[in-house]
Amino acid sequence: MSHATTPVLVIHGGAGVVKRDMNPTKEKAVRAAMTKALEDGYAQLKAGKPAIDAVATALSVLEDDSDFNAGKGSVFTHDGKNELDAAIMDGDTLRAGAVAGVHRVKNPILLARAVMEHSPHVMLVGDGAEAFAKEQGITLVDPSYFRTEERWQQLQKALKEDAGKQPHADLETAKHFGTVGAVALDTEGHLAAGTSTGGMTDKRWGRVGDSPIIGAGTYANAQCAVSGTGWGEFYMRTVAAHEICMRVSLLGEPLQRAAAEVINQEIPSMGGNGGAIALDTHGNIAMPYNTEGMFRGWIGADGVPHVAIYDDETDPSNHPPAAPSSTPSPISSE
Ligand code: ASP
Repeated sequence: MSHATTPVLVIHGGAGVVKRDMNPTKEKAVRAAMTKALEDGYAQLKAGKPAIDAVATALSVLEDDSDFNAGKGSVFTHDGKNELDAAIMDGDTLRAGAVAGVHRVKNPILLARAVMEHSPHVMLVGDGAEAFAKEQGITLVDPSYFRTEERWQQLQKALKEDAGKQPHADLETAKHFGTVGAVALDTEGHLAAGTSTGGMTDKRWGRVGDSPIIGAGTYANAQCAVSGTGWGEFYMRTVAAHEICMRVSLLGEPLQRAAAEVINQEIPSMGGNGGAIALDTHGNIAMPYNTEGMFRGWIGADGVPHVAIYDDETDPSNHPPAAPSSTPSPISSE
């Protein structure tokens, strides 16, 4: 590539039911954490570091913040435990790493990266993944580190509500809100994607969702990077992140249309819900969701972090550039 690409970083902190009357202190904290994740991740890109560094950095910040359902503050399983999942993918080389069902790894996204870079495998689970973490010098913590009272109360509520009921979208949405994801474009024009989650409150039997499944909740190639958030079973059945990227790569669909088709048509038509963030090599951003809101943030040509939660807040996805062009850059045209 003869000229440097303008770097872009996009993150999400989950799609779900977000009430306008959300506790103002919490809303402020969420916005501040997302801003910090954007700033720290973008600093990597500005320094000429690869997209994968920006993704890992931004997601570590959100994993360390107990307001998100990833790392500290993850939701509880039916048995009152925290089981964490994460994946990361480098679009340039199509290398990927993932972990599922870990309960002592402080930053699962860093372990996912270590799997990608230092093992011959793509996905490690449970105790084996933690043995590998130990070998790699990845920080391990006591399982009690992940516990927050708020998440514990959510489990108690879910246990009561769920007795004898069939799963449905509203109940399920409330159970998984707060997953974190990031997609980045670096100065070399390379893309990366990553996702980290505690999964769904009240999950049982070692349930693993879409987030750590390459192609379902996380995918990146040379043209497109996606991180999903929502009712994971539907993202697995539609192979959502991969399908968005294939629409872009193979069919030449514009990113926003590809992402909207999968997230707002296919998944709801099957009974699921959620959102996603997507980014292409031109710096185009898509952030479709069909829940009440999605925690989302982006930073690009203007170098300023932007965070949005509610539907009526402007983002590069719901306000596409007025004039069609071959390489539109929604951020710089805002
Ligand atoms: N997709 C995640 C899962 O099903 C949860 C979420 O994104 O909110 O585990």
